[in-house]
Amino acid sequence: MTKKITGGCCCGKVSYSLEDDFSKFFFCHCEQCRKLTGSAHAANLFTYAENINWDKGVEHTRRYEHPTRSFAKVFCTECGSGLPYLSSTGQFLIVPAGSLNEEPSKLPDAQIFCSEQTQWHKAGLEADKVAKFPD
Ligand SMILES: [Zn+2]
Ligand SMILES: [Zn+2]
Repeated sequence: MTKKITGGCCCGKVSYSLEDDFSKFFFCHCEQCRKLTGSAHAANLFTYAENINWDKGVEHTRRYEHPTRSFAKVFCTECGSGLPYLSSTGQFLIVPAGSLNEEPSKLPDAQIFCSEQTQWHKAGLEADKVAKFPD
């Protein structure tokens, strides 16, 4: 039996729980994922479509659907945080790993669309690591 893990948005209006049962975990460097996340890459876990319980605030979620391509995002209407969403085919639930409150047992399978990885991200992986804001 898998354990339940929880997640939610930054402002706390939306929270969810699901089974820690993920089939795939990808970092995606494609341009769309960078735009949708505002970050270096998406970090998306995949699970079965029914694996989601909205514990609080589902009415504060909104779905964005790209008009012509199969890109979507669900986010908190208050703080904009990315939240789990059904794939456009309805086949998978895609969970932004950063929205989880706990570590999933699944580790990343692959980094994908590395042909679109930014130079600043490659350089950033070699940058100094400090615990807090640097002095
Ligand atoms: Zn929020
Ligand atoms: Zn992508």
